[in-house]
Amino acid sequence: MIHQEKLSKQVMKLKPSGIRKFFDLANQIDGVISLGVGEPDFDTPWNIREAALYSISQGYTFYTPNQGLVALCNEIHNYMLRKFSLNYDPKSEIIVTVGGSEAIDIALRALINPGDEVIMLSPAYVAYEPLIEMSYGKCIKIELKEEYDFKLQPQQLLEAISDKTKVIILNYPSNPTGAVMEKEDYEALIPIIKKHELLVISDEIYAELSYENKHFSLANFDEVKDQVIVINGFSKAYAMTGFRLAYTCANEVYTKAMLKIHQYMIMSAPTASQYAALEALKNGDSAIEKMKQSYCTRRNYVVNRLNEMGLTTYMPKGAFYVFPSIRRTGMTSMEFCEKLLQEKKVACVPGTAFGECGEGFIRISYAYSIDEIKIALDKIEMFVKDYS
Ligand code: PMP
Repeated sequence: MIHQEKLSKQVMKLKPSGIRKFFDLANQIDGVISLGVGEPDFDTPWNIREAALYSISQGYTFYTPNQGLVALCNEIHNYMLRKFSLNYDPKSEIIVTVGGSEAIDIALRALINPGDEVIMLSPAYVAYEPLIEMSYGKCIKIELKEEYDFKLQPQQLLEAISDKTKVIILNYPSNPTGAVMEKEDYEALIPIIKKHELLVISDEIYAELSYENKHFSLANFDEVKDQVIVINGFSKAYAMTGFRLAYTCANEVYTKAMLKIHQYMIMSAPTASQYAALEALKNGDSAIEKMKQSYCTRRNYVVNRLNEMGLTTYMPKGAFYVFPSIRRTGMTSMEFCEKLLQEKKVACVPGTAFGECGEGFIRISYAYSIDEIKIALDKIEMFVKDYS
């Protein structure tokens, strides 16, 4: 007996990810060059891989404490202090999670009661909306504007707040726009966050990939630090997506609540991955700096090329994505990406995969080799010429 109607209504409402849908299409075509996936093209640095292998060889193949290895929590504490001047108690304010993905989920579930309004920015990382819905929150979207460099404006936040608002999810540096909020951009939001007692889930998974200035975290403002759950992780900065490792930093009350969910759902993050992460934090600085330099060179190349071919592209300040406008072609984002795929065998992601506000844009990831990027951009240029 298999009945659709037996499934959870909440799950049935979920739409498949727009990125996946598009790549299922791309996978059916031979010889496609993809600029679509948000995953580093670098190998995980060898010392990090070796630390995972060594831990297994030593027989560290059992659960760790729910919160994560004590040594790793201590090292996360050191790292957050050293890199971002953020002080979190390793004993009570840090949880090692299975990727940023789990971190977002436990943060939302720890905070939301059915019907609470959760503000999210749009376009946004594809998982936010479904995870808000799965925690029975009501999603309220703020449309980010290119004219403001995709930064959240105080007036927009004020307009989105109601007496049901509880949480806001921020993500800077941003996927998909690459936008960054600087200290002065956050400053204007702080009184609003404080006055309305908003809880902020600040997804800072791309913190290390901030090209112009050092990353500034919302939690750096002492007056709201206790309202913020910071999410950071290893997937992007250390090229460790498959290790599935990230962490939350938040005051003891929220950490305790999230830990309850984590302990029943996960028990503890994978042990070998935790040893790899420990090595990454201790001896990974030069590797991430090298990768960052390389991303920065590619970013400059991609943005220049796109602007030269007439696709207006804002210079992103972080992450590894650019978000060019394709409006001048007269096509929708989906039409542009489908035709580009069929006619030139290049896969980019339609902006609408990140919400309706992404219409008129495509997302290009430059976490690919410069040779692939060059070929793909030559093809995009020919495509744009064909349709001008
Ligand atoms: N947040 C953002 C903004 C992301 O782009 C991603 C991955 N694409 C994640 C969280 C999740 O990353 P992971 O689970 O690999 O840590």
